[in-house]
Amino acid sequence: MTQYCECCKSRKPLVGFDRGLRNCADCQATGEVARKEAAEAQARQQAKEERKRLKRKKRRAPRQRTCPVCLQTLSISGDRLPPHVNGRRAPCDGSNQALPVARTDALDHRLPGSFETGGR
Ligand SMILES: [Zn+2]
Ligand SMILES: [Zn+2]
Repeated sequence: MTQYCECCKSRKPLVGFDRGLRNCADCQATGEVARKEAAEAQARQQAKEERKRLKRKKRRAPRQRTCPVCLQTLSISGDRLPPHVNGRRAPCDGSNQALPVARTDALDHRLPGSFETGGR
């Protein structure tokens, strides 16, 4: 008769087996249980902090740019404007454009509304 030990991940004789903790006699004797539990607790803690870190990172990740064509604020994931539609639900001419330089005076060269009558 054997029981699966959660600690050493193998089947062990029932003799001395702790059914509550699901640890075999060997693991209880060597203190392996406590050691593994401590390691697991540490791993859990690390995973938790890692998740927290990723979450913080993620929240900062989406960059926002204003499309120079339709002036919508878009979330940027690459180095191009994502495909999007303008106010008339037509694909915007700014879709897939390289990102505008983050300087407002670059935008001033475009006449406002010059793209709005494109009708394409
Ligand atoms: Zn064991
Ligand atoms: Zn646009």
